[in-house]
Amino acid sequence: MTVVGGLDLFPPDPAIPMDDYVTSLDEVGIPFELLTVDAIADRWPQFRLPPGTVGLFQDRGAIVPAGRGTRVMQQLATRHGAVLRDRSPVSGLRDLGAAGVEVEAGGATYRCRGVVLCADAWTNDVLAGLGQTVPLTVTLEQATYFAPEDPSRFEPRRLPLWIWMDEPSFYGFPCYGEPTIKAAQDCGGPEADPDHRTDEVDRARLALLADHLATTLPGSGRPVRSLRCHYTLTPDRDFVLDRVPGHESVVVGLGAAHGFKFAPTFGRLLADLATGDRAHELPAFRLDRPALTDPAYAPHWLV
Ligand SMILES: Cc1cc2nc3c(=O)[nH]c(=O)nc-3n(C[C@H](O)[C@H](O)[C@H](O)COP(=O)(O)OP(=O)(O)OC[C@H]3O[C@@H](n4cnc5c(N)ncnc54)[C@H](O)[C@@H]3O)c2cc1C
Repeated sequence: MTVVGGLDLFPPDPAIPMDDYVTSLDEVGIPFELLTVDAIADRWPQFRLPPGTVGLFQDRGAIVPAGRGTRVMQQLATRHGAVLRDRSPVSGLRDLGAAGVEVEAGGATYRCRGVVLCADAWTNDVLAGLGQTVPLTVTLEQATYFAPEDPSRFEPRRLPLWIWMDEPSFYGFPCYGEPTIKAAQDCGGPEADPDHRTDEVDRARLALLADHLATTLPGSGRPVRSLRCHYTLTPDRDFVLDRVPGHESVVVGLGAAHGFKFAPTFGRLLADLATGDRAHELPAFRLDRPALTDPAYAPHWLV
């Protein structure tokens, strides 16, 4: 984990209300500072922001490399007795009631007491075995790397992570692992099929992002490469951490396109739900909440 600090930038009349952040951070006792444009410019002169922008800075904001982080979690799980079966897609899931759950995967059939299902964009494929679905939208997103002429100005010790808290919402990283700035729009892409994903660069979205960066972070350079990936979104952008109603032996975990950082906590909560060892009150993440059950619920994805 590389601690660089996290700066949420709220322009005047932002689409994402700052109060939600201030109240939540106060409630859980996480320290933060509110900074004016001048105070931001004193600390990070790289930014050029519209007058009236307020920065909410958390000094513990950090970067965790997802690939390496996932490998570490896999190694720890193996050390504690987990068996990892790669390339074994689940092709059948049956609830046998008191006899447990039957899972077909990679040509083998397993009988188990409980199942934790974390298949993100493919959650509904697996849940079909129980006749269940979750209203999920999969979008095709795009992240882009920009090459500044002077990368030393954008090093982690000189620049925090930042998020532009408006519609569209953009976010970016200081130079990390290579002399480029990674930036993207949050929830900017069209709906997509995760099994048929294009790698073609969306030029219009790239221009929007490049424009924003050139304005708010001058010197961040020209775009050198873009990559596509998908988001799996619930209508309220909140997570799913719950037993499937009517099929209590099956637990679903879903990160709603901002879940990587919570993986260790999700693991603990999902294990507790599956074993029933400890009860947790997680109403916001239940499968029977209105956002997932009311067809009239209007999706909103900004966080
Ligand atoms: C551009 C981008 C930026 C992001 N930034 C952040 C961030 O800054 N912070 C953050 O916390 N999160 C971020 N996220 C979101 C985060 O990456 C996801 O929430 C997280 O990776 C989801 O992990 P997962 O294990 O639930 O799903 P996945 O990693 O998608 O894993 C699901 C797995 O299920 C497998 N699968 C599919 N079908 C089956 C089947 N039938 N049987 C068995 N397995 C199956 C798939 O092969 C896949 O390996 C970002 C996502 C994107 C795209």
